[in-house]
Amino acid sequence: MKDRNMLEGIEISDIKEDLICYSYDSSYAQGIIPEFVAWPKNADEISKIVKWATNRGLRIIPRGSGTGMAGGAVPLYPRSIVISLERMREVYEINSKNFTTTVAPGVINGELQKELQIYGLFYPPDPASLDYCSIGGNVSTNAGGPRAIKYGVTRNYVMELETILPNGNIVTLGGKTVKRVVGYELKELFIGAEGTLGIISRVTLKVLPEPEEVITLLISFGELEKAGECIPKIIGLGIIPRTLEFLDNPCIELIETNNELGLRRDIEAMLLLELDGEITSIKRQAEIIVETVKKFKGETQVATDYYSRENLWKARRSISPCILKMKDKEKINIDISVPIDNLAKTLTKLKELSEKYQIPIVSFGHAGDGNIHVNILVNRNDEESKQNGFELVKKILEYTVSLGGAISGEHGIGITKKPYLEMQLSRKNIELMMAIKKVFDPRDIMNPGKIFS
Ligand SMILES: Cc1cc2nc3c(=O)[nH]c(=O)nc-3n(C[C@H](O)[C@H](O)[C@H](O)COP(=O)(O)OP(=O)(O)OC[C@H]3O[C@@H](n4cnc5c(N)ncnc54)[C@H](O)[C@@H]3O)c2cc1C
Repeated sequence: MKDRNMLEGIEISDIKEDLICYSYDSSYAQGIIPEFVAWPKNADEISKIVKWATNRGLRIIPRGSGTGMAGGAVPLYPRSIVISLERMREVYEINSKNFTTTVAPGVINGELQKELQIYGLFYPPDPASLDYCSIGGNVSTNAGGPRAIKYGVTRNYVMELETILPNGNIVTLGGKTVKRVVGYELKELFIGAEGTLGIISRVTLKVLPEPEEVITLLISFGELEKAGECIPKIIGLGIIPRTLEFLDNPCIELIETNNELGLRRDIEAMLLLELDGEITSIKRQAEIIVETVKKFKGETQVATDYYSRENLWKARRSISPCILKMKDKEKINIDISVPIDNLAKTLTKLKELSEKYQIPIVSFGHAGDGNIHVNILVNRNDEESKQNGFELVKKILEYTVSLGGAISGEHGIGITKKPYLEMQLSRKNIELMMAIKKVFDPRDIMNPGKIFS
């Protein structure tokens, strides 16, 4: 093709075998096969691809590692090009004096964490997909993770962004200082925008000194409701754990069936709680927590060494992959977020709804911040079961909103939550968002059909 000369030296493909890999992500969203996929190596190449694609009337879908749970990186319309940032993997700078790191968008979260450790530094946002997901994807979905309860989410760490706008222009937003009041802070708009405003080509993140020590507690509850009631009590102690993860009984069953870690199968819920900081201080905090959970009939075990701790986290992170291994079931997953004083109520409601609809639900999540991953297990290749599953989704989301909660705590809206957006936001609110998108992308070529239509 003649005008492909414009892309000389840039890796691009229109071979079907390549394209198929970019027609889906980790969600249940059904996309289509794009016309092209490109793998730029730097911002200039992204800019060239964007200009070339625009001239041809192609729609552009930015993509990191494709671990998204809302279909954000899935092409929806014909004549699309996926711009995959997966080959932009450079860590440009680790600055242990300014406590920042500057990276390319395709850098994998877990790899960055390991590299920072060498310098005694720590990047807290740790989505359970950290071994695969990219920093560009994390910024675009404002990813959270277990440590959000103490350290916040990706947004709290993004200092500067370089982005390529839908017209191909390269702009730098934000800066490398802690404080900055210089007009509208446009970088904030790109965080969680799910690739609808432009393509992030470089990210500067705030990092912290690594905490001195970590203590991991495994707390078992015979009653689900007691676990839900205990969580706000723990936070009320004024001790902010670095993680406070919740797993229900079906999760424990799944883990044990696949990994045999020796977790108790006779309990209804488990909390995975971590404290970090100076050792004598966190030991004292752990003692206070052990005493508090006893009041809710919780039993605590301490994971004393690095390996038993890592095993527990491996188990926690294996839940989603374990669900995918189920031969007779498909999952419809949502990640609701409720005010933490409504957590116990929500967990009980999920149990009731599961019984009423006769559909198994596996729930786990970042209970410390009220974020529950609800996995609705429908029968594979069974349309009726799927339809019932989606009815259940609607009921759960309605209930969440009625409690003042959010229809997504961290996965975003993408395609899968789009039908429910008006449950959460007023029409005026959505129109304002669409007007902002139009300023950046008047021709609606950047990831169209995501978040809103
Ligand atoms: C097993 C498992 C566990 C998970 N656990 C968590 C968790 O604990 N917390 C959490 O928040 N999420 C979690 N996720 C969801 C997912 O990993 C996150 O949303 C992650 O941030 C997506 O990153 P990615 O690189 O895979 O992005 P992709 O899936 O490739 O893309 C996600 C969105 O970002 C856009 N995008 C990607 N890169 C760019 C870029 N450079 N510029 C502009 N737009 C871009 C895409 O267009 C898309 O809309 C989990 C997923 C899995 C499969």
